[in-house]
Amino acid sequence: MPIRFFNTYSRQLEEFRPLDEAGKNVKMYTCGPTVYNHAHIGNFRAYIFEDLLQRHLEARGYQVNRVMNLTDVDDKTIRDSRKAGRRLTDFTQIYKDAFFQDIGTLRIKPADHYPAATEERFIKKMIEMITQLIGMQAAYQAEDKSVYFRLSKFPDYGKLAHLNLDELRPSGRISSDEYEKESVGDFALWKAWDENDGDVRWESPWGPGRPGWHIECSAMANTLLGPELDIHCGGVDNIFPHHEAEIAQSECCSGKKFVRYWLHCAHLMVEGQKMSKSLGNFYTLRDLIEKGFTGREVRHALLTVNYRLPCNFMLAGLEASRTALARIDGWVERLTDHKANANPEPIELGAQADRFFDTLDDDLNISGAMGHLFDLIRESNKALDEGRLSPGQAATLLASWERINAVLAFQRDTAAIPAEAVELLEKRQQARAARDWALSDQLRDQIAALGWIVKDTKEGPKLMPK
Ligand code: AMP
Ligand code: ZN
Repeated sequence: MPIRFFNTYSRQLEEFRPLDEAGKNVKMYTCGPTVYNHAHIGNFRAYIFEDLLQRHLEARGYQVNRVMNLTDVDDKTIRDSRKAGRRLTDFTQIYKDAFFQDIGTLRIKPADHYPAATEERFIKKMIEMITQLIGMQAAYQAEDKSVYFRLSKFPDYGKLAHLNLDELRPSGRISSDEYEKESVGDFALWKAWDENDGDVRWESPWGPGRPGWHIECSAMANTLLGPELDIHCGGVDNIFPHHEAEIAQSECCSGKKFVRYWLHCAHLMVEGQKMSKSLGNFYTLRDLIEKGFTGREVRHALLTVNYRLPCNFMLAGLEASRTALARIDGWVERLTDHKANANPEPIELGAQADRFFDTLDDDLNISGAMGHLFDLIRESNKALDEGRLSPGQAATLLASWERINAVLAFQRDTAAIPAEAVELLEKRQQARAARDWALSDQLRDQIAALGWIVKDTKEGPKLMPK
């Protein structure tokens, strides 16, 4: 079955075929964080969906070249850096660093490029594109000195969001803050400097100022991936006006179709409500880590809901993620430890692993794919219980798990067991052999203090994270 994605542009499931004639390389652009604060788990839902998309395409043999931009100049970054009394670049650096740390915690595969809007080469490209748009009458400088895109020059505006453009046209009464524009929907390409911007300004043919958010993405995508992309992603809130504006700017400049497949994830809700600071349900990744959850558990909770469905994030759901991961860990461990078996009968389990990938081909149906993984776990555990699984079959299953885990990144980090805990475990084994139960208990407590629990299994004692 071919890979199919739901394209926001056509509102249909479409077979995926990249631009590359060899059918191998995929150019993917993903809107990244505005670095004025720690990213919240809603943002991470979007980044984890994009991670799943990239990893699945790679599992299917594609070579993905992915760009994720960092918005390090806009109204919010300027406002908050001034509030903090810091230079814009120093202020945004704090949140850039935090972002990279967080995506590591969540096991998100790094993108190939993380362009920042304020890099000189991109500001130059933005100015070039705006100049071109003015030259073709698709943009104009208004009385307020800012430069706006002229919507009437791009009849396709509104197609991605399936909007009726007439609703955006001026109806005779235009609110006062938009008086400079020719039309209400015209959006800013270049914002003229004003005193609220402090020292944040670049020289341009239209006077000092700074770029609008939308042109930032068009310029970075064009510079790093060219004028035509295979996939462009974001959360649904990006569709309008941001992505609509990106299409207008890019297609006017290049005369080419900007993006073949638009993929957007639905929003994340928390305990059934919109996440907001005033409701006290606003979580950053750091908040959850402080509550004792791991990045792996948060990854599981955000990844396993199909991307086009709203994700209702609950702390109780994180407990369920912990249980699901423990089940996977236990299975991987059993297979790894599996010893020679006297009487193995052939069993047919490999197909389940294939079904995992086939199901993801269907618009990244991760919940269906996880169902196949758990069927595989249940059936192979049963075969192990009944002595029907040979060591060779266990090795085959482990190889399937490795392939599946390359997409999920759920494997427990065994390297993280500290040497001290392993040493204490050995001493505990010696104490038990000498029937010194008091010392054995004491050693178990010392291991627990390091964050590990001892689980006695048929194959001997094992260390598990608490
Ligand atoms: P921002 O930093 O606001 O530009 O957002 C960065 C990314 O996170 C964008 O792709 C947004 O669409 C996405 N996003 C923001 N809030 C949510 C949410 N609650 N659920 C899912 N995605 C979100
Ligand atoms: Zn963007």
